[in-house]
Order: sequence, then C-alpha cells, then structure tokens
Amino acid sequence: MTSRTPQPGTAEMVTVTTGRRVAYLVVLVLLPVLLLALAVPAAWGWGVGPRDLVIAAAMYLVSIFGIAIGYHRLFTHRAFKAGRALRIALMLAGGMAVEGPLTLWAAEHRRHHKYADREGDPHSPWRYGDSGLALLRGMAHAHVGWFYTARHRSSRRHWVPDLLADPDVRRFDAAYPGVVLLSFALPAAAGGLWSMSWPGAWSALLWGGLVRYAVVHHVTWSVNSIAHTFGDRPFRTRDRSSNVWWVAMLTLGEGWHNWHHVEPACARHGVLRGQLDPSARLIRWFERAGWAHGVRWPDPVRLTARRAGPASPGPAERPAAPRGLPPPPGDA
Ligand SMILES: [Zn+2]
Ligand SMILES: [Zn+2]
Repeated sequence: MTSRTPQPGTAEMVTVTTGRRVAYLVVLVLLPVLLLALAVPAAWGWGVGPRDLVIAAAMYLVSIFGIAIGYHRLFTHRAFKAGRALRIALMLAGGMAVEGPLTLWAAEHRRHHKYADREGDPHSPWRYGDSGLALLRGMAHAHVGWFYTARHRSSRRHWVPDLLADPDVRRFDAAYPGVVLLSFALPAAAGGLWSMSWPGAWSALLWGGLVRYAVVHHVTWSVNSIAHTFGDRPFRTRDRSSNVWWVAMLTLGEGWHNWHHVEPACARHGVLRGQLDPSARLIRWFERAGWAHGVRWPDPVRLTARRAGPASPGPAERPAAPRGLPPPPGDA
C-alpha cells in the first residue's frame, strides 16, 4: 500500500454474526440463483402469459427506479431534494428490490465510493489480482460473493448518521420485513385480481415476485462487477469505474458508472452524447412537477476538465490496482 491510500478505520466497520451471514447467503446469493433456475423449466413447461409479463415488467421498473433514484441518487448521494411524499414513495420503491434496509445499502455504498477499487472497498472485482482466474474470482466476489465472505459490514453510525437521524428512514428500516412481503404480495394480488383466480395469483407471484426479484438483484450487482471491469472510461478517476451500455440500459442509467465516480452527487450518470439515463429523465420530470428541487445537474466545465485526454492509459496500461487487496482489519 502507498501512503496515499486511506486505511479503513475500526469505527468504519462492525462485525457480522455468522447467523446473519448465512441469512445473506440464502437471501442474496443462493435463493435468486435457484429461482432463476426454476424459471427456466416453468417457462418451458407452462410459458409466460402477457399478464405475468406486464406485472413483472411493472415490478421491475418500480424496483430498479427505486434503487437508482431513491436508495442511490437521493438517499446515498443527496443528488437532489424531494418533498416528503416523494421521498417515502422512492424509499418504498427501492424496498421492492429486496436489497436490504436503506441504511445498510447506503452505508456499504458510501464506503465503496471512499475506497473504490482499493483496500476497504467492500466489493472490488480487482481484489485478488489483475488477470485470469484472480480477476474471475474478484468478479464473483464483487457480484455476490462479498455478501457472505465479508466478516464486517459498514458501520451505519459512521457512514449514514444523516439517514439514521431521519425519522422516516428509521421507520422504513424498522418496517423492512413488511416491505419485503409487500414486494411479493403486490404482484400476486395484481395477478389474482386481474385473472380473478388463484392460479393467476400464483403465476404472478412466480414471475412478478420471485423471478423479478432474482433478475433485479443480478442486474443491480452487475454495476459492481461488470461496470468496474469492462467498458470504456472517458473520465479520469482513481478507480476502475466504467461505462457498459447494456448494464446502463438494464439498470435504467446506473451502468454509466465512470462519471458517477467523478461526481457521485451528480443526479445524471449518463452525461455524454447518446448515453440514455432514464433515471435522470425521471428526476427531471419530478423537478418540473415541483416535487424535486436543488437537483445537482452536471457542470459542463467540470465535464470537460475531467475528460481523459487522448494519451490517457488504456485498459492494458492502466495503473494496476494493488494485487490481492489485503482484507480490512479483522476480515480473516
Ligand atoms: Zn462503483
Ligand atoms: Zn454511487
């Protein structure tokens, strides 16, 4: 480690119990994979009807927008301010993704930005080295592995005191198990009422609830794994954040990840020509409707200043991340 590399302090992390790690293993690693595996024979055997597709697509949009605009841009990075009704709506929408209570998500993500691709980053794909199997192992770690292997989590008291001080956020986190139930009950109810039948409710629960939750997870985690490994990097950053167009489309704008690491508090991630960012578009609509204000839009001067010049290092010559990042203190 160079002396310029900040070291994670002990106050920044808390120990995770084995029981909790096993719960993470089931909910965040194993269950989504099992559900995706289950979806294949289900689709093969019975097919997916248009009703289930519509319900699943609606739940997907709500979950991904909720994570991108709510959990990520509003609560973690304060890219804009919103009235109470919109804040609560975005919190609930983010909760539909079943990616954990808001404060937990935001704490891990703020630590990711502070240490991105260096020691202390909770999920860098470069953790084990730069090439071959080491990189593959790092990508698996960045995608879902870290949920189970990390013996420490980001301390909420250290990373998100502002969110802990917000009574609405505290209430939302306390009600989180109920929010998860809602994430599955809503599509089931929609399917049941639409078809006026129990089989309609069950198949909507499968596609709009269970399969959608598994897809949403892997789409979100691909920002951590794919958009820190492949893709182009038009802006200079100290990390390896990059732009991957298909990740950006699936995540409704979040895959334009390179500029996001230059200015995390910027409400728009896709800042270059042709970089469609539906989440930024929606924030713009909220602003026009008077529901959002103080939106931090990109500054053209900053954009130009941070553009990597023609002589900027390509993937092969980039300064290597420290090989085999040592684990954070106590992370045996
Ligand atoms: Zn990142
Ligand atoms: Zn971020």
